[in-house]
Amino acid sequence: MKWEELTSPKIAALDKSIPVVMNIAAIEQHGPHLPLATDALIGEHFISRLNAERGEQVLVLPQIKVCCSRHHMDFAGTLTASHTTLLEYISEIAASVFQAGFQTFVLLNSHGGNQAIGQVAVEKIGADYPDRQVALATWWSLAREELKALSESGPFGTGHACELETSLIQLIAPHLVEAPVPDGLHYERMFAQADGDMLSAGSASLYRSMKEISGGSGVVGAVETASAEKGQRISDIVTAQLVRFVDELRDYGTRRTYGN
Ligand SMILES: [Zn+2]
Repeated sequence: MKWEELTSPKIAALDKSIPVVMNIAAIEQHGPHLPLATDALIGEHFISRLNAERGEQVLVLPQIKVCCSRHHMDFAGTLTASHTTLLEYISEIAASVFQAGFQTFVLLNSHGGNQAIGQVAVEKIGADYPDRQVALATWWSLAREELKALSESGPFGTGHACELETSLIQLIAPHLVEAPVPDGLHYERMFAQADGDMLSAGSASLYRSMKEISGGSGVVGAVETASAEKGQRISDIVTAQLVRFVDELRDYGTRRTYGN
């Protein structure tokens, strides 16, 4: 169910154990071939599939499209909010959801730049509301092992506007993919402990802007192995894990709340 399409009396009458899920996305550069809305399109896609799978057993909030993209600001078209603004905004929406009586608030993240502040949001809101469930799931982390098995890009091949994201946009919005798709591996190496990709994080973290890490291309990783067919496989894998996560969270919240 979509929160914004229901009436207030219907929201008031719902079972409050139904998980409430909100996508945090981005409007930012995605290389020369993908639209600025890439992360928002991908987030909306997974939210729609979750909604289709769970129907009246899930509530989806309006997505937050503009989030934390300062590290992309060297590229035209990127929009950003600060970490503190996003933290406050998410916290205030969560407070509204909890005031309506719901027990479980889930952030579905579709953008790398939201991972750290998303985790802070979970820890802050979770501590503010210790009797509720507050959770964060980033789509590529939810299905990391299956995506590793599917990826053909090799080390540092998945990062940004890469094999995974390009495949998904080729599936979801092929009319928005510009040709030619970039070739070669786009990744400026640092050193072993700091290097990593979407599916294999480094053992430490070192800040670099997207301009630096992409060598100026706006792409991190490899794109040539992307396809709409692979996008469908990614979509199915991630949707299955997302549905499972939301189901498990609801079960856990019910056990926790009612002590079964
Ligand atoms: Zn992206």
